[in-house]
Amino acid sequence: MPTKIAAGNWKMNGTQAEMPQAHLIAEAAAAWAGVTLLCPPATLLARMSVETSGPALKLGGQACHRAPRGAHTGDISAPMLAGAGATYCLAGHSERRTDHGETDADVAAQIEAIWAAGMTAILCIGETLDQREAGRTLDVLRDQLDGSLPPRATAGNTVVAYEPIWAIGTGKVASPAQVAEVHDVLRADLTDRIDGGAEISLLYGGSVKAGNAAELFALSNVDGALVGGASLTAEDFVPIVEALAES
Ligand code: PEP
Repeated sequence: MPTKIAAGNWKMNGTQAEMPQAHLIAEAAAAWAGVTLLCPPATLLARMSVETSGPALKLGGQACHRAPRGAHTGDISAPMLAGAGATYCLAGHSERRTDHGETDADVAAQIEAIWAAGMTAILCIGETLDQREAGRTLDVLRDQLDGSLPPRATAGNTVVAYEPIWAIGTGKVASPAQVAEVHDVLRADLTDRIDGGAEISLLYGGSVKAGNAAELFALSNVDGALVGGASLTAEDFVPIVEALAES
């Protein structure tokens, strides 16, 4: 069975003052056996790893450079994230692709770097609204997998998050039918392309909230969620973790 994962992506939110939220989320995480993951800004990782992480709450980076070190002002490397307590790292989030022009080839190189640092990569893929309306969703996702998922991927080192770009931060969640269609195809595709692909955790991301989480988690190939806005406070995130625990 794929591991169930409730992952929160804090993006560029969270100062030292938000640490109490992480403590509350860690307390709730201790109540179930699946993975609860927070990807805070890198500035909070080391402190969270001392104060909140453990078997219940895992930590992740939001992005990393493909190189382990060097002259790349403002960037952060996978070994730096791992050294600060991260055991997961996102790769290919649509905001990185848009804001920083990251290509599938960049994402593939980052995933290799994440693995080299001993972390699990969470590969994010998703279509734009134009691509969906043109009926190209499945082709776009297949192309992203072709270009950004290195052949050494296994269920042990990789998680895939389907995040329709039109649903991220917009309040527009994909319908259960839309999510089910994509996740069923992704499961079949991953099973074909990777040994053990049937075991890879497949997350949905895009305006997941307490009110819509349970119906998404009831879908057979949805193993959890990657949550942005609703992961910033325990009040919003804990009910999502609980819905996954009960699914
Ligand atoms: C995300 O950024 O990965 C995300 C899914 O954001 P939100 O939940 O806010 O739509």
